[in-house]
Amino acid sequence: MNVSTASRTQGAYTYSSLMDKPKILVVEDEQDLIDLISYNLRSEGYEVFSCRDGGSVLEQVRKVKPDLILLDIMLPKIDGVEVCRQLRKITETRTTPIVFLTARSEEYSEIAAFDAGADDYITKPVKPRVLVSRIKAILRRGVIVDLNHKQADIRIGDLEILWDEFLVYRDGVPISFPKKEFELLYFLASKPGKVFTRDMLLTGVWGGDVLVVPRTIDVHIRKLREKLGEKYIQTVKGVGYKFSIDAE
Ligand code: CA
Repeated sequence: MNVSTASRTQGAYTYSSLMDKPKILVVEDEQDLIDLISYNLRSEGYEVFSCRDGGSVLEQVRKVKPDLILLDIMLPKIDGVEVCRQLRKITETRTTPIVFLTARSEEYSEIAAFDAGADDYITKPVKPRVLVSRIKAILRRGVIVDLNHKQADIRIGDLEILWDEFLVYRDGVPISFPKKEFELLYFLASKPGKVFTRDMLLTGVWGGDVLVVPRTIDVHIRKLREKLGEKYIQTVKGVGYKFSIDAE
């Protein structure tokens, strides 16, 4: 699969990640687990910071400016899901990848995690190799696109998505879209495999316009599928949508 999204802003992001060690903030109340995670991530070249409760996360975030946040769900003071919601509301971490640490026995499901704006989750007990490979994959995805700024064209599978023209070529055949349908497609296709909740799509594509309801997204998705075919955009039951990583 060939995903090419090298815009100027994302170029800057890649540059800084290559030059500096990526910074990971671990929010976890068990010191043993902080130690295990820190040891494994540091040996892979990451800089690791930690805090032990939900109350001090915002302060740490502003100090550290992490590239990714590992967030335990069960935390003292404020739980992880609420911390995640708060992080999604502030500019510094609106698009920072957030990965939840969850234990199977905990009452929160992955749906609650995705609803709060998580990018992924890792189940406890944490297996170091799984942790490292997951973090690498998520950092490779880069930041969520900001549709208010010019973006690069995307080439993925048999699709070419041309930003300036609201135009998609499928196998060389042009298909044009109304602006919002195009933006929704672009948003999903910029992060193949990432699950987006309807709330995330509302915020990312409609800018949180209060007059737009989640149902609007379903209608737009249906129209996209009618024009493009079914294989590109997948429904994730009870959560939202993702662009298929097998769309080739
Ligand atoms: Ca905990």
